[in-house]
Amino acid sequence: MAQIRIVNLRKDFGSFNAVKSSTFTIEDGEFFMLLGPSGCGKTTTLRMMAGLELPTSGEIFIDGEEVGMKPASQRDIAFVFQMFALYPHMNVRRNISYPLVSQGMPRTAVRQKVHEIAEILGITNILDRPVGGLSGGDRQRVALGRAIVRDPKAFFMDEPLGALDAEFREHMAEELRALHDRMGATTVYVTHDQLEAMQMGDKIVVMNHGIVEQFGVPQDIYDWPATKFVAQFIGSPPMNFLNFHGMVGKGGTSVTLDGTAFSLPRMIEGANGDLTFGVRPEHIQFDDSARYRGRIIATEYLGTTQIVSLDTPNGQIKARIASHEAVGIGQTTGLRFDPRTVTVFDAGTGRALRSEANHGVLAHG
Ligand code: ATP
Repeated sequence: MAQIRIVNLRKDFGSFNAVKSSTFTIEDGEFFMLLGPSGCGKTTTLRMMAGLELPTSGEIFIDGEEVGMKPASQRDIAFVFQMFALYPHMNVRRNISYPLVSQGMPRTAVRQKVHEIAEILGITNILDRPVGGLSGGDRQRVALGRAIVRDPKAFFMDEPLGALDAEFREHMAEELRALHDRMGATTVYVTHDQLEAMQMGDKIVVMNHGIVEQFGVPQDIYDWPATKFVAQFIGSPPMNFLNFHGMVGKGGTSVTLDGTAFSLPRMIEGANGDLTFGVRPEHIQFDDSARYRGRIIATEYLGTTQIVSLDTPNGQIKARIASHEAVGIGQTTGLRFDPRTVTVFDAGTGRALRSEANHGVLAHG
């Protein structure tokens, strides 16, 4: 399988700059997610890696070889555009064997390979059925079979589960991940769904407006967002932002909000001006002895937890607390913020201020 490295990759469509300057590495065997909102440049990035779009500048290496100008057919990548794209007039076996037959592989070798793939996918019993009458799940498996049968260096998938309903989507996500693990493949997967990215990915690149905002393992991205964009895009509800004006010296380990000092998990570079204190909803505790206070304005019951909205001196926030905790709308409560995961941002640039602000960030064009 393959390691894929992209360096300062850029794509312009006329005067529009779709991908600014992306740099990241996908290690051999990783399940790698390209995540971001619609129009951020995920598909364009994937298409450049696949050889379906020429980069304006920058480099793409597959297993150390620069492939930026190589056509798609010479990159040995299987692109799963859309899982339901099957040949309707052919049966399952012929759909899966098609890429091998068109490569001129001998018939006995094709038969053996198709059986191998059908075993992996659990579809040996439907090999001679027409694809027309198959269930959605089986059609999806056949389409995957056709993509993986050539033993490509990597699989590229662009929102493959986008059209499915929630329950089936979750099931297929688990199957895809299990298949990836069984085959030891390198998979690059485009999604705008942060939950899907967190659940399935070994690593995630978060993109916004053509820029790589952050690159890393899901937990680092969740716990240590490099920018306000990442902090809000990942997590539901997203990270809360409390705005304040402050000054912290280089190596500072606390900030003061409305007269209350809050300690920080990591030293920060030093800052002076408009800052943002970021705290995840589940890292807020209600404690009446705490000095910093908020007024409860709404609650939303979610079974094991509840989301409580509060007004604070520094803006509105949402806390996730156990649903058995009694809360009353209009009441005031003391608030504590778990210092282990607090992040302070420069309100103007949106960048995290901790001294390892570059933690996980490889490119920012
Ligand atoms: P989506 O999930 O909506 O497809 P995306 O993050 O995959 O979003 P891209 O498809 O990569 O985004 O598109 C990035 C930007 O580049 C968009 O603004 C899009 O309109 C623009 N774009 C993409 N392809 C072309 C093209 N061939 N010509 C002009 N602009 C394009």
